Amino acid sequence: MSTATRHALLVIGGGPAGAAAACAARAAGLSVAVLERGATPQPDDCPGWLGPAAVRTCTSLGVAADAAGAVEFRGLRLRSWDLKQCVDVHDPELRGWIVEPARLSAALLEAARRAGAEVRTGAEVTALHLGEDAVAADTRAGAAAEGQIALLADGASSQTAGAAHLLPAQRIAGTGGGVLATWDVATDAPGVEVLIGAGRALRVATIVRGAGRIRLYAHTRDTTSPAGTQLMTLVAAAQAAGLLPDSPPGLPQSRPLLGGTALELESHVGKRALLIGSAGGFVAALSQEGIYPALRSGQLAVETAARALAAPLLQDELTSFGAAWRADLADYLRMPNTDLGLLIPLVFGNPQMSRRVARAFLLGQTF
Ligand SMILES: Cc1cc2nc3c(=O)[nH]c(=O)nc-3n(C[C@H](O)[C@H](O)[C@H](O)COP(=O)(O)OP(=O)(O)OC[C@H]3O[C@@H](n4cnc5c(N)ncnc54)[C@H](O)[C@@H]3O)c2cc1C
Repeated sequence: MSTATRHALLVIGGGPAGAAAACAARAAGLSVAVLERGATPQPDDCPGWLGPAAVRTCTSLGVAADAAGAVEFRGLRLRSWDLKQCVDVHDPELRGWIVEPARLSAALLEAARRAGAEVRTGAEVTALHLGEDAVAADTRAGAAAEGQIALLADGASSQTAGAAHLLPAQRIAGTGGGVLATWDVATDAPGVEVLIGAGRALRVATIVRGAGRIRLYAHTRDTTSPAGTQLMTLVAAAQAAGLLPDSPPGLPQSRPLLGGTALELESHVGKRALLIGSAGGFVAALSQEGIYPALRSGQLAVETAARALAAPLLQDELTSFGAAWRADLADYLRMPNTDLGLLIPLVFGNPQMSRRVARAFLLGQTF
């Protein structure tokens, strides 16, 4: 290994998972370096939403709404997939932020820097070496970095997971898929609508109205027709109903369906390494919300790493990460423990049922 400064933790990727892990490391008194390949973190360029858990976490990390380019939304509108039924659910807990993900991620990484993390941008990790006594990363720019434990937060298609003999979430994403369409359009009514339907499998779409942009993200495990075709049928119906601008959307983009894959992965623990954020499939199954699970998995990984650094057998303690995140996050990530397909007809006529669906979506609650 080289003579680079050896940090307690080396975090690969400066998105929400990596930034939250770095903040948690500094709060625990651990030295930490974050290696981010971009000049800033690089999330999808479309408005996103945060539920109350994510808002609380961002706030506790010192990221205020204006720094994240956030506007608050309250309540959730549920619509049937055929757009014939609609219900507005109001509940004091059903609120959150609509954010520009790029600004949110940059603000979180800045919070890590303020907390004392060494943040290196333009530092793409090209190789990761997990040794007996330490870990080391090579970057494209040539500089090396060392740590005692690596936290792998380089996103769904993680290149570093393989070095730890782990599978990145994208490799085990299930059948079906997600499709994203966006419109550049002024909107003076920010908010979140959830479209829900059941054919052969549950279909969920989220319309997020943010500042200057509208986004529709639809996902399903129904493979009878391509997800893109299902999305374009929905777009046409929503345009006809006046819910979306008449103009064609920007080119629809496919995304692997990551929701719940953390629960499918055999392990998130490699040699001196933990897999966190979307790299580890920490994405909620019903809503596809990934920012809160990314933040929380980063924090939980640091708690495990801190225990491991103080333990006589570091690797043995690292293996407790599986139990730690399952106790905290598994219910949040899992599909609600009921057959939503059967319940959908009730959702629009029964206020108690619509409230439960809205809370499952936005608060990650079980039924
Ligand atoms: C279309 C779409 C819409 C979404 N909308 C929402 C939403 O509204 N709300 C929500 O909560 N979630 C949403 N998600 C999910 C959410 O964006 C992710 O789950 C979340 O960003 C995961 O954070 P992360 O830090 O794990 O990974 P990422 O945000 O992907 O960050 C990974 C970082 O690692 C860096 N990196 C990658 N490789 C390397 C390398 N070799 N070396 C160094 N750095 C590297 C990347 O540049 C990137 O900055 C959405 C996802 C998609 C695809």
